[in-house]
Amino acid sequence: MSDTLNFGHIIVGTGQATGTLLSKLIPTGESIAVIEGGSIGDTCVNVGCTPTKALVASAKVAHMVRRAAEYGVQTPSPSIDFGAVRDRMNRIRHNSRDGLTGFIENAENVTLIRGLASFESNHVVNVDGQ
Ligand SMILES: Cc1cc2nc3c(=O)[nH]c(=O)nc-3n(C[C@H](O)[C@H](O)[C@H](O)COP(=O)(O)OP(=O)(O)OC[C@H]3O[C@@H](n4cnc5c(N)ncnc54)[C@H](O)[C@@H]3O)c2cc1C
Repeated sequence: MSDTLNFGHIIVGTGQATGTLLSKLIPTGESIAVIEGGSIGDTCVNVGCTPTKALVASAKVAHMVRRAAEYGVQTPSPSIDFGAVRDRMNRIRHNSRDGLTGFIENAENVTLIRGLASFESNHVVNVDGQ
């Protein structure tokens, strides 16, 4: 094996637990490797919770505008600009992903390694052959 690095902690993946783990581990000053084989933040940030809730928020605004008269507010019926809805969703999820990426990359004791991890033994992790 070439280019062996040693870390106090290794986190495989940047999913839902990563931010919580890092906020506990970073202040210890111990060395941490974060290994990611796909997108930073993966399901929740990129295709799950964050984008769906952004779409639901736009739908809720349209729904409330349609019901405006019930609340004594007169307003024209809304028209939906789906391109703008999608752009808003993308802005929110990209901000989330970039925020998490910056948090990982800017911590002095964290090394972000891009690639697929597999265990060679209890304490040795191989990333794309290294
Ligand atoms: C449309 C949709 C809406 C959702 N809405 C909600 C919601 O409102 N609330 C809620 O609580 N949940 C929601 N969920 C579920 C939620 O998104 C998932 O439960 C959660 O994101 C799973 O997180 P995770 O960290 O376990 O896995 P993942 O998000 O899959 O993250 C795992 C990470 O590990 C990396 N990885 C895996 N194996 C390796 C390896 N060998 N080497 C390197 N990297 C590796 C992957 O690339 C990935 O980045 C939703 C899901 C979907 C699809």
